[in-house]
Amino acid sequence: MLALSLDMGGTHIGCGLVRDNELLASSSLDSEPAQSLESLLPAVAAELKKMLQECGLTAEECHGIAIGFPGIVDARRGRILSTLKKYEDAIHLDLEQWAKHQFGLDLRMENDARMALLGEQYTGAAQGLSDVVMITLGTGIGGAAMMLGKLVRGAHAQAANLGGHLPVNFRGHTCACGNIGCAEAEAAGWSLPRIAQETPGFRESSLADVPQLNFQALFAAFRNEDLVACTVLQHCLDVWAANAVAVIHAYDPEMVVFGGGVMQAADVILPFVQEFVDKHAWTGWGKPRVCAGILGGNAALMGAVPLLTEDFRIV
Ligand SMILES: [Zn+2]
Repeated sequence: MLALSLDMGGTHIGCGLVRDNELLASSSLDSEPAQSLESLLPAVAAELKKMLQECGLTAEECHGIAIGFPGIVDARRGRILSTLKKYEDAIHLDLEQWAKHQFGLDLRMENDARMALLGEQYTGAAQGLSDVVMITLGTGIGGAAMMLGKLVRGAHAQAANLGGHLPVNFRGHTCACGNIGCAEAEAAGWSLPRIAQETPGFRESSLADVPQLNFQALFAAFRNEDLVACTVLQHCLDVWAANAVAVIHAYDPEMVVFGGGVMQAADVILPFVQEFVDKHAWTGWGKPRVCAGILGGNAALMGAVPLLTEDFRIV
């Protein structure tokens, strides 16, 4: 099955052309989350058409278009329900109409973390498993869960999606979502500068000279044995590990898949989280495996075929 696929991230829009579990072509368009999605659609359509042409294929040969969107998405009704500072105009756009008009194709949308989970379960780290949880670490922390081979969606389409907003510190900071001490508020890309600045000794740390303090800079300083970086990283590892135990207790998975850009440092993250899970998760059957996604930045694009072929009527 041939499909067009889009992954609408905070800093770029991933465009893909997939045939079953094979990514035939992909590219990335720069974007700003504050930008309107409507202003980006012409470039997105042009990119997908160019991709089809270069592969010698046509839109008529495709089964549909799948979109992974960073917000709360009701896939069953084809609607974006809520956004959080990313593409705020998307709620009011008729993307189904756009897909019909531009390509003559049906469109399905889903939350981007759920798309990544679909991709990893279809052809990645969790292939063949029916009970899996995904945690994506990046600017924010995304979450998704699959139970008995079906995505967990809930009454209002947000079930398991707010894994990054599970509280890990009830005396912690107020999160962008309004809750207190969410995992995101304690250890995500957007909260990292504040966490570092609040760490004793920050002014003397090499991190104080970093113009844009992100996880790449944190891991670099950690590998240079900067003491403040070590403290901040340990704090983040504790948060991610607590988050993993929380979703294990909630969804009873066989595997927890970590994805997102921060997993470039999987060699540091995975052993710690697995050990924490082995020690602290209450499971009567053994321990879930903690793995990194193997599809990297293409995970959500690879969720296209499972999403487009999902039978919503039996959910
Ligand atoms: Zn939150």
